[in-house]
Amino acid sequence: KYALGPKISDWDAQRRRWLAENPGFPATVAGGKPRIMLVTGSQPGPCDNPLGDHYLLKSTKNKMDYCRLHGIEIVHNLAHLDTELAGYWAKLPLLRRLMLSHPEVEWIWWMDSDALFTDMAFELPLSRYDGHNLIIHGYQDLLFEKHSWIALNTGSFLFRNCQWSLDLLDAWAPMGPKGFIRDQAGKVLTANLKGRPAFEADDQSALIYLLLSQKEKWMDKVFIENSYYLHGFWAGLVDKYEEMMENHHPGLGDERWPFVTHFVGCKPCGSYGDYPVERCLKSMERAFNFADNQVLRLYGFSHKGLESPKIKRIRDQTSKPINDVENLDMKAKILTAS
Ligand code: UDP
Ligand code: MN
Repeated sequence: KYALGPKISDWDAQRRRWLAENPGFPATVAGGKPRIMLVTGSQPGPCDNPLGDHYLLKSTKNKMDYCRLHGIEIVHNLAHLDTELAGYWAKLPLLRRLMLSHPEVEWIWWMDSDALFTDMAFELPLSRYDGHNLIIHGYQDLLFEKHSWIALNTGSFLFRNCQWSLDLLDAWAPMGPKGFIRDQAGKVLTANLKGRPAFEADDQSALIYLLLSQKEKWMDKVFIENSYYLHGFWAGLVDKYEEMMENHHPGLGDERWPFVTHFVGCKPCGSYGDYPVERCLKSMERAFNFADNQVLRLYGFSHKGLESPKIKRIRDQTSKPINDVENLDMKAKILTAS
């Protein structure tokens, strides 16, 4: 049977020992917050459509901005660490590798390349997750009552760096190997999950199926989050940004000002997708600029409109640039910069 790597069963003890021996690499950062590593990735080669590469760059810039503002480390992976788990399955061996190579990291956060941070002030309510090891956006009833294939979304989720997470990755991976196994597993998933079209096994369906079939084993450590958009489906959000700017402010993270806007079903890099590529690109441009405005505002600029890469100055320049704002934390700065 397929395995992600040699079986590890004492990671918690190994990690604890390493942390004790390496006090220069603590699992917390300034302010005592847990150390977080955000991981994203894209295919090793160029996009079929050059515009796809441009939007990959924008998406990575967006993540760098969010991470820089909040003291989060960021990794962008272009390699297929395991050729059997190419494509959307590539995140599994990658997450395992990074957990093992970075015992100093407490939370490892996967985010798809087609997901953008759209609330630059919102911060994860990590203290809420003390007793949990996997944090994922979704709905309990869609999962356990409807068995829906969109009950959870694997475009943005966090794993605690611990033995439980390695075990979950091991249990999650077996449907992934490309070819016969992935094709056959796809049939099992389609037969068991509501709304799932017929196609090869994908990581999201496989996770849902695993949690459904082994509920007792895993669910007490899984936090299904929907009080804010850890993942937010783009189609319902991108046309409302102007309205949100009119009525609300960053820092809310929910439908009033979505934390993440995820372009599920858009494939601007590849050649096929569920939505017309023009609609996807226009919507991504809007999401990017909506988010970028929150960054540019810190420096006194703003986009001319959500569909324009052009910017304008929104504050007069001053000969005394250091003022009270400099003494605030980043979240407060984003909220007060206007
Ligand atoms: N991905 C990757 N390497 C690859 C192909 C995909 O790291 O070779 C990542 C990429 O970040 C992408 C994610 O896998 O966003 C999942 O695929 P996609 O977003 O296209 O699926 P969807 O969200 O539309 O279901
Ligand atoms: Mn995606």
